[in-house]
Amino acid sequence: ALQCGIVGLPNVGKSTLFNCLSNAKAQAANFPFCTIEPNIGVITVPDDRLTKLEELVKPNRVVPNTIEIVDIAGLVKGASKGEGLGNQFLGNIRATNAIIHVLRCFDDGNVIHVDGSVDPIRDKEIIDTELQLKDLDTVTKRIQKVEKMAKTDKDAKRTFDVLSVIKTHIESGKSVRSAAVEADDFEFIQDLGLLTQKPVMYVCNVDEGSVIDGNAYVDRVKEAVKDENAEVLVISAKIESEIAEMDSYEDRQEFLADLGLTESGVNKLIVAAYRLLDLYTYFTAGVQEVRAWTITKGFTAPQAAGVIHTDFEKGFIRAEVIKYTDFVTLGSEAACKDAGKLGVEGKTYVVEDGDIMHFRFNV
Ligand code: GDP
Repeated sequence: ALQCGIVGLPNVGKSTLFNCLSNAKAQAANFPFCTIEPNIGVITVPDDRLTKLEELVKPNRVVPNTIEIVDIAGLVKGASKGEGLGNQFLGNIRATNAIIHVLRCFDDGNVIHVDGSVDPIRDKEIIDTELQLKDLDTVTKRIQKVEKMAKTDKDAKRTFDVLSVIKTHIESGKSVRSAAVEADDFEFIQDLGLLTQKPVMYVCNVDEGSVIDGNAYVDRVKEAVKDENAEVLVISAKIESEIAEMDSYEDRQEFLADLGLTESGVNKLIVAAYRLLDLYTYFTAGVQEVRAWTITKGFTAPQAAGVIHTDFEKGFIRAEVIKYTDFVTLGSEAACKDAGKLGVEGKTYVVEDGDIMHFRFNV
């Protein structure tokens, strides 16, 4: 399953957020969460389209997309040098597909800051530096390994060149994701699982009063990351934990409305995390089951079918495709067919986000 790791210095609110995510009460009843390990939770991704399809098709069951969220605690200065359990934590990050970086943007004299004061930019740099140092270590080792072969072997030469560019980039204090390396070239180093190459989003954890307009800390964070092309979410873990305590859906909605919010921060976080993973969703919509399926952008129809079952991919004949907007406008598969809105597509069709697919295949 695809994983997002929550990182940040100690005491910034990571586990508070993780616990809110893991509290089923915080979610609509049909979006349960379960904890599979103390620090790993499986979360279903809220998707309004799925709710709409459910209304129209009235299936026996609905199956949403899921992602795993991992609370990666204990990242501190010196982690890349193996301080504390540093290396173990960095290993946990390597296993994730994207990073949720939590920054403390609230003042609270009762909550000790590991570095003595609240400063989200400094905090961010401490974490970034640890991840970058770890990457530098990984890259340097690989360079030593391919250096000799690069003199005779073409692929080794290209790997060496890409690594050299990345090494210089990290040495200038930057993360791999911003390196001037072509996608094709990244293929040569994909197996390294570089930490700072993973997509990132920032969560500014603010006090209750700043959740709508943000605060000076949030402004500084936004300014500092403006070139990173990363999403910045403003969330109050404290509010989220109060919401998580509430039993009824109505109470939660009322509480949110009183604060001037329409949606819980946890909800926003899950949707943003899914977006961060840069995936597409397609649907199958039968009377037995309406279901969301996760695919990588650019998947062809047979590849998308393969997500359901490898036999679907092997025996693929064709796909019947209805665009989501057509389906909800016309109300049913039959109506779409009558209106000429059911496309019959072959092996080369590239699936789009929101497509409603019906696969025909040989067994
Ligand atoms: P972690 O070490 O990053 O996982 O941080 P925790 O989630 O354990 O939070 C550390 C402390 O900060 C706890 O005492 C939390 O109750 C408190 N805390 C977390 N979020 C907030 C917040 O938004 N506002 C305030 N005032 N305290 C918070």
